[in-house]
Amino acid sequence: MLDRQGREISYLRISVTDRCDLRCRYCMPENGISWVEHREILTYEEILHLVGLFAQLGIHRIRLTGGEPLVRQDLPRLVAGIKRTPGVRWVGLTTNGILLKEQLPALLDVGVDGINLSLDTLDRQQYAAITRRDALYRALNGLNAALSAAASDRLTLKINCVPTAENAGQWVPLARIARDNERTDVRFIELMPIGLGAEFPCRTEAEVRAALETAFGPAIPCPQEHGGGPSRYVTFPGFRGRVGFISAITHQFCSGCNRVRLTATGFLKTCLQYRAGVDLRGLLRNGSGDQAILAAIEAAVQEKPAAHHFHTGRDTEDETRTMNQIGG
Ligand code: SAM
Ligand code: SF4
Repeated sequence: MLDRQGREISYLRISVTDRCDLRCRYCMPENGISWVEHREILTYEEILHLVGLFAQLGIHRIRLTGGEPLVRQDLPRLVAGIKRTPGVRWVGLTTNGILLKEQLPALLDVGVDGINLSLDTLDRQQYAAITRRDALYRALNGLNAALSAAASDRLTLKINCVPTAENAGQWVPLARIARDNERTDVRFIELMPIGLGAEFPCRTEAEVRAALETAFGPAIPCPQEHGGGPSRYVTFPGFRGRVGFISAITHQFCSGCNRVRLTATGFLKTCLQYRAGVDLRGLLRNGSGDQAILAAIEAAVQEKPAAHHFHTGRDTEDETRTMNQIGG
């Protein structure tokens, strides 16, 4: 499926819930959250129906996210259904890792292809300050389970860290996970001014790179992944894995964007920063046929915004949802 800019859209991120067991300060408020009602959230059957239609349009890579996807009951059942969908070649999960140790065996059994584990620090107190939950040991249990699975080549593993002023002292310790583990990438994702993220200053790729080069020596560029996402990879002398940078602020990558997003309530979002898109749940539930839904998806993708405008302040068309509602 091509959009008006000629970009091939082949990747869909699906948020399965707005609920989460953490409260990361740049993502969710501490209190006063108004949860989406259960009846507004797509059922697994509705998600699978839509995945089948997206696959007909050339989407072959799917990532489940949230909120925290593992807090939704029986997620492996959904992964299994997506894996069975003709045309889908790859299914991954983005998780905070809190419930991963318990659920990883079932996810591997149904053939999950990749895990992205979000981890901003290895320091217990700092983790509790950033996530508002004293739960580092649970995230580390999830990390260790995922590292074992990656070591035996059962999945691809990426550790994602959002660099902030607060966790600057942790960039090097986190990068050591890539030094010590094969088939494991540690990626630094520049904080975007979306939702509560707008209240925190972004620490840039250049700052992280400088800290890592001081610790590990000059970065060695890695070949760009064919058809992959926006991450640019390097490695360092003696590293087994890679370090990646996803730098929406300082290295804008919109011209190569290949993705769209489905919120937990079934809204197809065509750009992270804009509200643009279409309510697919409405079409599903009012009995619109598949042809009408396919046409609505194609029309929305055609209108996918050309680029974000993080550098030029707010716009009336901007997204007002928080990241846990969008899925990151
Ligand atoms: N709960 C899961 C997790 O944390 O991995 C999945 C959802 S979370 C919204 C997905 C990713 O978005 C996390 O890695 C989180 O750090 C990142 N994120 C949240 N707000 C962000 C922002 N404003 N800018 C960049 N990344 C953000
Ligand atoms: Fe939850 Fe992920 Fe948001 Fe943290 S970043 S509050 S883990 S959804």
